[in-house]
Order: sequence, then structure tokens, then C-alpha cells
Amino acid sequence: MTRTMKRDLAGQATLVTGGGRGIGAAIARELAQQGSDVALVDLGAFDDAERLAAELRAMGRKAVALKADVSDFAAAEAAVAAAVAALGKLDGIVCNAGITRDGVSWKMTEAAWDAVLDVNLKGCFAYCRAAAPLFRAQQGGRIVTIASINGMRGKFGQSNYAASKAGVIGLTKTLARELGPSGVNVNCVAPGFIRTEMTDIVPPVVLERASAESALGRLGEPDEVASVVAFLLSDRARYVTGEVIKVDGGQYT
Ligand code: NAD
Repeated sequence: MTRTMKRDLAGQATLVTGGGRGIGAAIARELAQQGSDVALVDLGAFDDAERLAAELRAMGRKAVALKADVSDFAAAEAAVAAAVAALGKLDGIVCNAGITRDGVSWKMTEAAWDAVLDVNLKGCFAYCRAAAPLFRAQQGGRIVTIASINGMRGKFGQSNYAASKAGVIGLTKTLARELGPSGVNVNCVAPGFIRTEMTDIVPPVVLERASAESALGRLGEPDEVASVVAFLLSDRARYVTGEVIKVDGGQYT
């Protein structure tokens, strides 16, 4: 099937956290293909983010890679300011960076709990908080958060991860109410199992079960999440806010 190229994001500027690889990199590529300039924030995959920024510049977009730990409030403010300086403005942010540190709850270490809550929930909030004054001042903006179906249904061995992603959903709905009067839309995408480095460490039997439980009978690909994120950032989704959209091939129905 051939895909017609849509330029729904022409002239926009978007910041993507965790944009160096996986779903974040696919989002950045999709946004650039649809016409958006892009700032990539990453830490562990910063070299990948720099290579991707060069790739996006070669497509004719403005693109910059910024090194920051998403869970640091001050660094988030600095990254938003740096994105505005590099791109000339900022229309949207995608809070995508996330990690897993799985373990059953009775063996969950404090370090594993804190690490996941810090990156997935605090890191998401840090960028929403940093962008909010700008979006309120310009009376417009788009925020897309990335949760997970495991934050909606729970998952054995993921008490920290599921709690962080459930938190992202509550955060999304609250920010939609707080920022809606300023013309800011805030929505959440909740993927099912998507093939990335995050799922590379998942045992094959678990991935086979995830494929089997999905209505479509397969795992998802990063670009299948990216296209939904791009839609939510576009004007076509202007009356959608406070929403959680699952992109899971029918894994959790
Ligand atoms: P990934 O591990 O491939 O990529 C995550 C990215 O976030 C990496 O580039 C990493 O360097 C970056 N990152 C991690 N901690 C960071 C920090 N402290 N500061 C800055 N950057 C940091 O994972 P992915 O599969 O692409 O996941 C992306 C998002 O999608 C995550 O929020 C994840 O929870 C969510 N998600 C993934 C799946 C899946 O099956 N892959 C399913 C549901 C939700």
C-alpha cells in the first residue's frame, strides 16, 4: 500500500524527549516528514540523537539535539529555551522518554521504583511544566504524552512502570483542563508492545503472548505510534484534548 505524504505540520516546531532512538526517533522522523522542525532531547542515546538531527537537517528541516536528563526540572527549562533558540519557536512537545526496571513488587528495589517514576512521570511533568508558560503566553500549543496500555490494565512485574504510566494519564487529563483555556491541547498515546530496544530485553515467550493477544496478531512498529502522535499535533485534532488513544493492535480491549 502506498502512503500519501501529508504535510499537516508544515512550519511547526516540536520538541521530542527520548528522541534518539525507538519510538521517539520514529516520531521525530514522522514530524519532520510532515514539515515540522524538531528538537531532540536525550541522554543515553544522545549520539543517536545527534545523528538523527543531522538526518533531519539533510531533509531541509531545522533540527537540534539537546543532552539532558528529563527528570531534571531546571534542565527541562533550559532545554525548552534552547529549543526555542534553535528553532525560532515551539508549537508542541512530545513527552516520550521512558525506561523499565521490572521486578515483582515484593522484590522491587527502592532504586528501581525511583528510577522509573523519575524518568517516566517526573520527566514527563518536567517538560509539560517547562513548556506551559510559553504555551500560555502564546495562547496555543500541543502536548502529547506517551503512556502505555500497562498503565491502564496493570502488568505482572511492572508495578513501578504501570504506576508511572497511570500517573502520566492522570497528568494528561489534569493539564488538558488547566491549559485548555489557553488554547493548549494535551493528549496521551498509550502503545501496546512495540518493537524497540525497550522490548528487545523482553523474553520471546512474552512477546509471542502479546502478539497472540492482539486483535491484529502481531506486535506494533514505532512508525505506527508516530503517525498517531503526528495527528494529535496537527490542526486536524484541534477539538481533541484530555484523550488517551491506545495504539496496540487491539491488545487491550
Ligand atoms: P527505548 O528504550 O528504545 O527509547 C527510550 C529513549 O528515551 C532512549 O532514547 C533513551 O535514551 C531515552 N531516555 C531514557 N531515559 C532518559 C532520561 N533520563 N533523559 C533523557 N532521555 C532518556 O524505548 P521505546 O520503546 O522507544 O519507548 C519510548 C516510550 O514509549 C517510553 O515512554 C515507553 O515507556 C513507551 N512505551 C513503549 C512500548 C514498547 O513496547 N516499546 C510500549 C508502551 C509504551
